[in-house]
Amino acid sequence: MFKVSPFKLNLYKTCPQQYKYVYIDDIADQYKTAKPYLTMGAHVHNALKDFFEIEDVQERTWQTLEALLRKRWRENRNGFASRDEEALYGKKAIQMLKVFMHENDVTKRPLLLEDYYETNLGSEVKLLGRIDRVDEDADGVHVIDYKTGKPQEEGFDPLQLAAYAMIISAKLKKPVRKASFLYLQTNLWQSVEPSDELYQDTVDRIMDEIASIQNEQEFRPRVNPFCRSCDFIEICPARDEAKKFLKANKT
Ligand code: SF4
Repeated sequence: MFKVSPFKLNLYKTCPQQYKYVYIDDIADQYKTAKPYLTMGAHVHNALKDFFEIEDVQERTWQTLEALLRKRWRENRNGFASRDEEALYGKKAIQMLKVFMHENDVTKRPLLLEDYYETNLGSEVKLLGRIDRVDEDADGVHVIDYKTGKPQEEGFDPLQLAAYAMIISAKLKKPVRKASFLYLQTNLWQSVEPSDELYQDTVDRIMDEIASIQNEQEFRPRVNPFCRSCDFIEICPARDEAKKFLKANKT
């Protein structure tokens, strides 16, 4: 059974060499380094999960959410270069959650909260995804994926959301009406309303991409802006090229 997720496909597309290090050589744990934005992102996600697990909606106040964030933060403070950097990321997290409290209905009772879910695509592929939240109201089922970063500059690819909708639809045995990214910095929602055409297109794309991976012979490095956060840059055959690229494209 070939296990696939939108994250895995995206990693292959971004850099086949990095994909090989993670999924074939299996050396990610050896090289993984904590990063400030990942630590912050995990804390924001976990605080929101803890928050929606509170049964009594009267208790879902800003004070509660902030306390949950601070609790998670105390448990893991890895990845920050200095106290100042940590404070900066802490402020960003607080700001995102304030926007969330202000702009959203926090009395909702989600059907599902952040976890790994999966479904089979035929007999040879297992599609997996870590899905943040699933709501159900009078209009139907809504799959939500929180984003702590900024929207993609190159536009919106519905593959991840369609894949998540397929997974949840199979799990709940009912249709998904809508699947959305929620960009927490600005409360920007990007949504798809799944259709048979979208599902078919998504399955076709996933199968094509799996075929490319399975036929891959070389897994060449592809120097790109994400080299900056790549844990394998020091062992990458394109290390010098990547460093030169990053120097020339400082953010
Ligand atoms: S440093 Fe860049 S090119 Fe090398 S493996 Fe990482 S992402 Fe790929």
